[in-house]
Amino acid sequence: MVPPQITSTAAKTFQFGAITIPLSQTFLVSKLSYALVNLKPIRPGHVLIAPRRRTMRFNDLTSEEVTDLFAQGQRVSKVVERMFNAESLTLCIQDGPQAGQSVPHVHLHVIPRHQGDFPDNDDIYDVLEGDRTKKKQPHIDNDERKPRSAQEMAEEAEMLRKELTGWNEGAE
Ligand code: AMP
Repeated sequence: MVPPQITSTAAKTFQFGAITIPLSQTFLVSKLSYALVNLKPIRPGHVLIAPRRRTMRFNDLTSEEVTDLFAQGQRVSKVVERMFNAESLTLCIQDGPQAGQSVPHVHLHVIPRHQGDFPDNDDIYDVLEGDRTKKKQPHIDNDERKPRSAQEMAEEAEMLRKELTGWNEGAE
């Protein structure tokens, strides 16, 4: 079901590299950035913040875009940490293919962390990169994780949207 609060702008979409993201899978829209739920989260609550302008590298962003990306990232972090009962967060940007970037559009990963969620704390970076050589957690390798359904993603986005007052105040 389309969340009632977004019906008026339901036609709006956002670009994430070559991927078109429907508004139903976003949960925060500012003037320069938007937040989206993840097709293949590596942990529950793993979400992304991206600039609205299709831009591949961090250094391609204007200072206004950087400021907005991190300000929205901070807003999202607070909500995600609380909603997913996390004790910490991993925040990261894989800036370029050699750094593990698979979608050529800048995005800040926000990942809730819990005690013991990975055998070694930094294993999360192997999983983020989809590093098949280390095989520490082969069952959650980037390529092997099952994509979530549009319905599941829309439901998570709706839950997060409810926690973010003025979630689409920047939508135009
Ligand atoms: P990276 O490997 O740092 O470029 O991260 C790309 C992220 O985008 C991963 O967390 C993917 O699961 C996520 N992703 C890929 N396609 C989609 C999509 N259609 N909708 C939402 N998230 C996606």
